[in-house]
Amino acid sequence: MNEFNYDFLVIGSGIAGLNFALQASKYGTVAIVTKKELMESNSNYAQGGIAAVLDKYDSFDKHIEDTLKAGCNLNNKKAVELMIKQAPKEIKRLIDLGVGFSKKQDKLCLSKEGGHSAKRIAHSHDTTGKEIERALIHQVRHNKNINIFESHLAYKLLIKNEKCIGTLVLDTEQNKILNFSAKATILATGGAGQVYLRNSNPKIATGDGVAMAHEAGAEIRGMEFIQFHPTALDKKNKPALLISETVRGEGGFLVNDKGEKFMSKYHKLADLAPRDIVSRAIFEELKNGKVFLDIRHKGSSFIKKRFPYLFENLWWHGIKIDRDLIPISPAAHFVCGGVHTNLKGETNIPGLFAFGEVAHTGVHGANRLASNSLLECMVFSSKAIESAKEYVKKNKKSPIENEKSRNTGVCSPNTRQILNIKNQIQKLMWKNVGIIRNQKNLKQTLDNLNKYNTQIEEVYKKDIGKEIIELKSLCINAMLITQAALDRKESIGCHFIKKK
Ligand SMILES: Cc1cc2nc3c(=O)[nH]c(=O)nc-3n(C[C@H](O)[C@H](O)[C@H](O)COP(=O)(O)OP(=O)(O)OC[C@H]3O[C@@H](n4cnc5c(N)ncnc54)[C@H](O)[C@@H]3O)c2cc1C
Repeated sequence: MNEFNYDFLVIGSGIAGLNFALQASKYGTVAIVTKKELMESNSNYAQGGIAAVLDKYDSFDKHIEDTLKAGCNLNNKKAVELMIKQAPKEIKRLIDLGVGFSKKQDKLCLSKEGGHSAKRIAHSHDTTGKEIERALIHQVRHNKNINIFESHLAYKLLIKNEKCIGTLVLDTEQNKILNFSAKATILATGGAGQVYLRNSNPKIATGDGVAMAHEAGAEIRGMEFIQFHPTALDKKNKPALLISETVRGEGGFLVNDKGEKFMSKYHKLADLAPRDIVSRAIFEELKNGKVFLDIRHKGSSFIKKRFPYLFENLWWHGIKIDRDLIPISPAAHFVCGGVHTNLKGETNIPGLFAFGEVAHTGVHGANRLASNSLLECMVFSSKAIESAKEYVKKNKKSPIENEKSRNTGVCSPNTRQILNIKNQIQKLMWKNVGIIRNQKNLKQTLDNLNKYNTQIEEVYKKDIGKEIIELKSLCINAMLITQAALDRKESIGCHFIKKK
């Protein structure tokens, strides 16, 4: 088995992983292991932007209050304060790294999104994530202390004497298993939107980090809080392309099949109510026909300039957003829970750190405020440097023993059987552990998931390949979400339970 040794092993190349890797490279050798191309991540698809107090009419207190309100006060208040007070510095750091935020006469353009009481979303047109990734990747690729391993899928954390000492990795191009040993192992593996049939996430979002950490004994929290984005394209046989909340922030509104605006029936903030409320309102309206987003009144030139990505992508789907209504419905979008960490990115396993969407600091509580997650990635990956750097200084690399019980034969398992189970899990989760849940369906779903898990484990023991690793992760995430939903008896934030 080939072996690689590093001070810092970063799993994932979204904004959290890249930002950490750049800073860690000042203190030691860094490997970035990422399962597809460097750019492919949830981060890359973030449209709306990144929230921060950057305007004299705004304040930290207001941003904190909005975050706590969206999270139904289930948030870790210390995490919220830290994130919001650190936000302006992180925006400055991004600008210094070369991120081109949209500006007007040298001033950052700020937009407003649901649940925010002020304009505070810094953005780069409607492709903010892509622009931040571009700038970070440019820096990472030119850094001599960082080695990049694309098409490398981490699948098992290695624990020795109760410490994390690295991970097993499948090189998905060569079909080879590799040992990566490290003093500090970092999970920056992002979310798990693929657990659901209708979701806004790219294919990489299979929750591998949470699954690996759970298997290694890390504490997982808050998994019942899956955020459903209210507005994803709803067109037969088309992907659930996300329509950013900034479309409503810039004056867009929702209408039902009869052309009636309906959001003020559900919340005083109408179209800019928090996401869970808008999603459930749309869910109700969908019972009587289709629901649409309307931005036509803003005019062609504004729309093309402010939303070039959406204008072009929806055009490919046959929708001209300056002339047509956009058919939408909710889609699974963001995991508020994950691998539990303190505010320094430390998990309960020494040597294992986590931040970004994979982590649970408690910053989002029961529901995430729009555009707080790119911010979370930046703040907590920067914060984790201090603790990871100290850990690396104090600890030696541990040699990795080849696993005795592991069958290392790499071959493709029965793909059809696997894809079939994947689809069944996604459907089951969408139907029973989605926007509206009930105890009976949750129990039944958990029983079914346990059965799927046994079947998956049988294949996994014999053969190891990309599909089976990702399917195993999906099933573990689905079980964790369903169990957490069963345990939480009351409705709160994005966990809505209907008593029958
Ligand atoms: C369509 C869309 C729009 C969004 N818009 C916004 C927005 O406007 N503002 C905002 O704040 N948030 C937004 N979000 C949420 C936000 O983008 C994510 O929460 C955030 O980017 C997560 O960053 P991350 O670095 O934690 O993970 P990601 O960006 O998802 O990166 C995870 C990385 O880990 C890699 N990886 C995963 N598993 C493995 C493995 N087993 N082995 C190796 N590599 C692995 C992946 O390939 C990827 O490189 C949006 C999300 C989506 C999907």
